[in-house]
Amino acid sequence: MSDRWGRYAPSPSGPQHLGNLQTALGAWLQTRVCGGGFILRIEDLDLDRSHPQHSSKIIEDLRWLGLNWDVGPGAGDVSDYLQSHRSAHYHAALEHLRNADLLYPCTCSRRDIRTIASAPHGPLGTVYPGICSGNALPPQFRWQSEVDHPAAVRFRSGTGRQSFVDVVQGQFTCDIAREVGDFVVFRRDGLVAYHLAVVVDDIAMNVTDVVRGGDLIASVFPQSCLYQALGMRPPRYWHLPLRMDESGERLSKRDGAQSLATLIDSGMSPEQVIGILASGLGLIDRELPISLAELVCDLDESRLIEAFRSTCPDNKYASQFRDEADQEL
Ligand code: GLU
Repeated sequence: MSDRWGRYAPSPSGPQHLGNLQTALGAWLQTRVCGGGFILRIEDLDLDRSHPQHSSKIIEDLRWLGLNWDVGPGAGDVSDYLQSHRSAHYHAALEHLRNADLLYPCTCSRRDIRTIASAPHGPLGTVYPGICSGNALPPQFRWQSEVDHPAAVRFRSGTGRQSFVDVVQGQFTCDIAREVGDFVVFRRDGLVAYHLAVVVDDIAMNVTDVVRGGDLIASVFPQSCLYQALGMRPPRYWHLPLRMDESGERLSKRDGAQSLATLIDSGMSPEQVIGILASGLGLIDRELPISLAELVCDLDESRLIEAFRSTCPDNKYASQFRDEADQEL
């Protein structure tokens, strides 16, 4: 196996819709076409919103489509792919950041922040106005997940401009202090926050290519700050087009967007569903049935990138970060 690794990292908070599966296919194809290994990581940190039955359904859906993995359920130890079993990794990273004096406790409520913050609510939420930044973590503070803490813990994200080039969507730039601000890495309810968990996992799992939905593009900025603070280089990012419904809105688990079960019940074969997803990714020009083997054998890395780019991915989730001096892709 090559030294490239990719992953699909769903949160088991509801049944997957076709948009999620389209991302899964894109991530799987990237590793298979580029000769890398593929990880199925279940992001079940938020125990209130995650349910084992959704994880089982995700696994079943991916298997039905034929999207196999090298590390994930049935391949490796649970602590290799299930976030709820990886706390020790997150706590070690938090200790590292704490020793570098990059963390502070924050007692502000969301309402406090919204009242004081001057920055508008962007794709990364309200930029924290720094009210608690003079605080220090008391020496007795422990990363315990079962107790409610009086404070959340924020990461000092620093200042300066940060840019990155997304393989699919081009160049994005932001002003860290003004547009990202200090963000929460450890929540008041004792859970590790999304940005920290994703970065720690991608580092530990040697992920070189992060292929995910375009709605997450702005999260590259806080995540890159964490890579830097942990002394690591960020991976290559590929943010894919999102599947929209007829009214142009992105599909959502909450709205009960079309699930795979509905298509299977209507008698569709895996090849028919792959055809629908592959067309959404710009890989074929009509929704005709196609097998995974046929898709892979027609592609190399540059054709894959060209196809993803041809969908003109909507980057409304990061339009404020679009680099004015964007080079031609
Ligand atoms: N778990 C996240 C989601 O389902 C994806 C995280 C990532 O790919 O970085 O939206």
